[in-house]
Amino acid sequence: MLRKMLSAGEYLFREGDQPSSAFLIEEGTMEMHSGEGRRRLVLARLGPGDLLGEMAVVDRSPRTASALALSDSVLLVIDGDQIKDRLAASDPIIRMLLDGQMKRYRSMLSLLQGRGPTDSAADPAAESEPGLSKFRLESHLRDALSQHKLEVRYQPILEIASGRVAGYEALVRWEHPTRGPVSPEEFIKLAEETSLIVPVGEYVFDVACAALDRLRADPMPFVAVNVSARQLANEGLMQRVVERREALGLPPGCIKVEITESQALDYGQVAQVIEHCHRNRIEVSLDDFGTGYSHLTHLHHLDFDAIKIDQEFVREMFSSERAMSIVRAIVALGQAIHADLMVEGVETREQLEFLRSIGCRYAQGYLIGKPEPLESALAAR
Ligand code: C2E
Ligand code: CA
Ligand code: CA
Repeated sequence: MLRKMLSAGEYLFREGDQPSSAFLIEEGTMEMHSGEGRRRLVLARLGPGDLLGEMAVVDRSPRTASALALSDSVLLVIDGDQIKDRLAASDPIIRMLLDGQMKRYRSMLSLLQGRGPTDSAADPAAESEPGLSKFRLESHLRDALSQHKLEVRYQPILEIASGRVAGYEALVRWEHPTRGPVSPEEFIKLAEETSLIVPVGEYVFDVACAALDRLRADPMPFVAVNVSARQLANEGLMQRVVERREALGLPPGCIKVEITESQALDYGQVAQVIEHCHRNRIEVSLDDFGTGYSHLTHLHHLDFDAIKIDQEFVREMFSSERAMSIVRAIVALGQAIHADLMVEGVETREQLEFLRSIGCRYAQGYLIGKPEPLESALAAR
């Protein structure tokens, strides 16, 4: 690890220097100042644990202040790339906020130094653009939600052995006023980054319950709703769903939940939610099994009622022997732990026949039907 020793009175860097590193003070006291002589302006006095020199690294501009050791000091050198790489990997909104603060700081400093405010209107805003468009999209989504402009489509799920549509998966849709349809993968991810996922999730459940009210039949079909781990942290969500179902007098069992990917499922929390669901006769499936973050540990620790095999495997089943063996093995695995098997992305008869032959319970995909508005689902019965 690189360290820098300074004696009292020695400069670490001076105003106008090109930056390459930032520093963490381990011992001693440092002074940041700008100007010299009568125009010397002390900006800060820093001690152990304080970071200095990071600002010029962040916005790749010359040092706007000098760093002087007031006592013998020891500093840890933080390479500029360590900071730059992290910034590049950070959320564009965080970068934009940091950028804004940086501009404000430079402008204040310029004022303090008697040079008048800096002209940030002349700066190209290109760097903050990704952050800005994310902010915009997010407030448009908030608007769409409050105006009930999110639509829910229903994709039929076939019970293979009986040949009947046993239920539907609820898939949310958003038609952006200028961009057109925005993929749920994009806006759900965006909503998950903030607490916006909570009202979006509640909305989808409310709409799904109202749909079930109209889908009533004998036997009663189910509607499966996607829920991400972030939504499960909203403790009241499932209780609200149960109350809604009871208020409408819907039979238990008609609502199912699909838990979608998550980097880190909090097992304690998810186990509690699953238990709560089971007490209220709501089945829970593990979505996208076999890809991303959906792995065996989830099945080991959590009592899922069903496993949903990701479309990737089905798509390649007849072109790759390995994909076919994987599907076969997952179906056997599900049977061994008494979980229902559901396969999504079924597009051909051949795929469906194969799934039937290995004892898979449910199939979903364009062969059976696309996600459609409720009216179409009702008309198709
Ligand atoms: P998912 O849960 O894996 O949903 C299946 C996706 O595959 C859907 O895309 C569906 O339209 C598409 N699909 C279904 N059958 C076929 C097929 O035969 N071929 C092909 N090529 N595609 C098929 P969609 O609707 O774009 O949804 C994408 C993802 O967005 C979903 O993946 C789900 O993770 C998420 N999502 C959708 N609605 C919600 C929601 O209400 N809440 C949450 N948390 N996530 C949602
Ligand atoms: Ca799903
Ligand atoms: Ca999937």
